Amino acid sequence: MRCPSCSADDDRVVDSRSAEDGSAIRRRRQCLACGERFTTFERAEDVLLTVIKRSGEIEPFDAGKLIAGLRSACKNRPVGEDDFMRIARGVEEEIRQELSPPTTQTVGIAVLEQLRALDEISYLRFASVYKGFEDVDDFQREVGLLTKKITKKTEAKHSK
Ligand SMILES: [Zn+2]
Repeated sequence: MRCPSCSADDDRVVDSRSAEDGSAIRRRRQCLACGERFTTFERAEDVLLTVIKRSGEIEPFDAGKLIAGLRSACKNRPVGEDDFMRIARGVEEEIRQELSPPTTQTVGIAVLEQLRALDEISYLRFASVYKGFEDVDDFQREVGLLTKKITKKTEAKHSK
């Protein structure tokens, strides 16, 4: 590891400890050339999956966020937590196999493909909002609006 102070590539590890709930190792190092101490973090390479947002920003893939979105889209539908977990894992596997991070749209479409086989209404709800899938609050608001629309349509049909 190159020393941030003098750029010498010769150091010794002074201290190693677990960090970030065990998902990383923090090492204190000391440069043997100038004596500067610095810290490095070591993580498993596949821990951080990323996606590209519409803005072009890259952010970590967040399965929890995806599941929260699914939970909203599938509210009062016969699709449950086990399905959400399976979809999230399937999408995660797909991302893992890609050479470069997918866009959030690509992720949305991957989710839709799996959701369609499970429940049409959930699929439609998710389809109408996956574009705004970057922010859970926006997402839930849009789903709420759509749910109202669907309910109105259903009521109109029944009153005929
Ligand atoms: Zn140094």
